[in-house]
Amino acid sequence: MTANNSNTQQWQAMSRDHHLAPFSDFKQLAEKGPRIITRGEGVHLWDSEGNKILDGMAGLWCLAIGYGREELVEAASKQMRELPFYNTFFQTAHPPVLELAKALAEVTPAGMNHVFFTGSGSEGNDTMLRMVRHYWALKGKPNKKVVIARENGYHGSTVAGASLGGMKGMHEQGDLPIPGIVHIAQPYWFGEGGEMTPEAFGIWAADELEKKILEVGEDKVAAFIAEPIQGAGGVIIPPDSYWPRVREILAKHDILFVADEVICGFGRTGEWFGSDFYGNTPDMMTIAKGLTSGYVPMGGLVVRDEIVQVLNEGGDFNHGFTYSGHPVAAAVALENIRILREEKIIERVREETAPYLQKRLRELADHPLVGEVRGVGMLGAIELVKDKATRARYPSDKSVGMICRGHCFDNGLIMRAVGDTMIISPPLVISKSEIDELVEKARKCLDLTA
Ligand code: PLP
Repeated sequence: MTANNSNTQQWQAMSRDHHLAPFSDFKQLAEKGPRIITRGEGVHLWDSEGNKILDGMAGLWCLAIGYGREELVEAASKQMRELPFYNTFFQTAHPPVLELAKALAEVTPAGMNHVFFTGSGSEGNDTMLRMVRHYWALKGKPNKKVVIARENGYHGSTVAGASLGGMKGMHEQGDLPIPGIVHIAQPYWFGEGGEMTPEAFGIWAADELEKKILEVGEDKVAAFIAEPIQGAGGVIIPPDSYWPRVREILAKHDILFVADEVICGFGRTGEWFGSDFYGNTPDMMTIAKGLTSGYVPMGGLVVRDEIVQVLNEGGDFNHGFTYSGHPVAAAVALENIRILREEKIIERVREETAPYLQKRLRELADHPLVGEVRGVGMLGAIELVKDKATRARYPSDKSVGMICRGHCFDNGLIMRAVGDTMIISPPLVISKSEIDELVEKARKCLDLTA
């Protein structure tokens, strides 16, 4: 599509007149008009004015294999011709969903060989909530219903997903969380660690889980859900002491461990799953985003074999979605996984491009505005501060994160702002020279913000 100014204006008018965009101030967006993104190729996007933009967020943590892969287009169109829709309800299935379930079992951690498909990550977490309660009821412990989650975690935007998440702004709109979901502190050393060393803080944050289990009562707690690395909360990388201690606590008490792998899954940390990266052994994993590289919507819940054995004895599980295991999404996911495996994309991230990205990103730590740079694999965060020594922030009305994001937007880079934390999550296929482009643009935008 050829872009020109009058097209942009027409699209912005359509937005104002007809579209309600997610996570937006509708009135402000109507006045300003959205930027119209028209095309993607590799790690770059183009807007309706013809500007080229490096997508430092892989869409929304989605585009593992990058934009413009014809193989996925082919897989979708072939499947649409053959069987565009059938559900997996009522004793039916179809080849793409079965082949995908098998392919997933080959890449997920050992002992996690079954998957319940959904249309999104939020639906995956809704499924988890119902499945863990059903599981405990079948085990003769129907009082085990409470799920422990973390402040500032993100688990989706449905009522259950937003309740599991620990985003205050989301809880305030709509009387959340729903009953049976409680939250503990996040392992965010830079923001909340105070005088503690990262290691001591990691132990403290993990011990908050045990405190909560004892407060609620082990006999009432069904599961603990956490992202291996909190993404939307600001790429919160737990101190090294955190996960081993959490594993110890969960092993001591009879509680299921749910890893929300919606962001960390499919190679983002340089391993297939964030749980592999940390050596965690979850009972369930929520997946989405990188499953299809975002080309079509799909999510799921991967379930450990021992749990499936119990569910197998329980009759109907009264839960599912019209689009659970959608054949076109399944065909696309299969092709996406084939590409990730055959092109050794995750190995390249682990061995080559992620170390380079992390090294180059940390060069930004000398910038006067930067309090900390952290990252793992293809994830990174840059904390903007007023005072490097004390980690003091700018007053909230200054909103340096939004200012920096605006400069990035105007200078051909997408970086997201979570408060005053700038975050990145580029496509896994980003090259070293594109990483140079990302870091150089980021520095320029920091200079413009300072
Ligand atoms: N879980 C995590 C960790 C996420 O980051 C997200 C979305 O960003 C979700 C769940 C929800 O996924 P969806 O937006 O596909 O419902």
